[in-house]
Amino acid sequence: MLHIYNYDYDKLTNYFLSIGQTKFRTRQVFEWLYKMKVKDFSLMTNIKKELREKLNNEFLIDNLELVLRQVSSDGTIKYLFKLNDGNLIETVLMNHDYGYSVCVTSEIGCNMGCAFCASGLKKKKRNLEAFEMTLQVLTVSILENIRVSHVVVMGIGEPFDNYENVLTFLNTINSSYGLEIGQRHLTVSTCGIVPKIYEFANFPLQVNLAISLHAPNNELREEIMPINKVYKIEELFKALKYYYDKTNRRITIEYILLSKVNDSKKHALELANLLKDLNAYVNLIPYNEVKEKPYKRSLKEDTLVFFDTLKKANINVTLRREQGIDIDAACGQLRSKHEQN
Ligand code: SAH
Repeated sequence: MLHIYNYDYDKLTNYFLSIGQTKFRTRQVFEWLYKMKVKDFSLMTNIKKELREKLNNEFLIDNLELVLRQVSSDGTIKYLFKLNDGNLIETVLMNHDYGYSVCVTSEIGCNMGCAFCASGLKKKKRNLEAFEMTLQVLTVSILENIRVSHVVVMGIGEPFDNYENVLTFLNTINSSYGLEIGQRHLTVSTCGIVPKIYEFANFPLQVNLAISLHAPNNELREEIMPINKVYKIEELFKALKYYYDKTNRRITIEYILLSKVNDSKKHALELANLLKDLNAYVNLIPYNEVKEKPYKRSLKEDTLVFFDTLKKANINVTLRREQGIDIDAACGQLRSKHEQN
């Protein structure tokens, strides 16, 4: 059986054309799936019965099984979902003043091996299919009866290590006949897989690209992010410059502050120097401590000095507001806890 949520608008249109239907069927099915959020082809009453039956014989309208729903005191909700094959994934819903934002998992486990991250404690088992990412957003919007306005691909996994499926997913949730999440409200976060940054420059949607940098020089970055052994900072920044020149899309630099590791004033100056020719803005992220890892969250005073140093160097910088600290919201923490039990 095929998974209907694996089909973005163009793919579903190709399917309908291939069986002698008009492309208008795509719009109808999309509206039923994503606007009315129905889970049964027989309810799609503006489509002829024979075609509904054919769709029902060929496609699954999948669901995610809710295993756990944890609500934080700040309103952040974390979900543990079970996939068809029994694997567990995490999804997070954040309530911002600008709308509801869903943080999506892109892989089961992760192979990037960042030293501070809980996700890498489990080696990658497989990519998520597009339908499993689309379902995270759709299921949360059904469960909470809300319109999701923003999506960040910042959950477990490396989206550029699952490139095609992530693009299908982005197309699907952006479609105006679907969930209609604006392109500028979509963010993909990568640890810096350079060839994919070049490819992503050709992707037609105006989505935001976030780069997990976390260190301002090769020596330190290599220590905490093994991907830097493959793609050095110079190569990464060359790709980012190309990407920006080609797309004019905003680039965010994510930088987790790890106490006494990457959070000195010297590091901040080095970072400012690195960014001076790139139109990027920096998001400083408070570290969520992970019990299996030695890293600590930066002290308040070090955080402020770091922030001010970037500001004084005319770098656009924000300090990420913390959410869900009481519900194991750091990547991979909920799942790894659950699986030990
Ligand atoms: N693989 C992608 C996306 C998933 S990680 C990437 O590397 O960008 C999403 C972000 O959360 C990354 O910036 C990652 O470095 C950060 N992160 C991982 N573990 C964290 C922790 N314990 N506390 C705070 N941020 C963390």
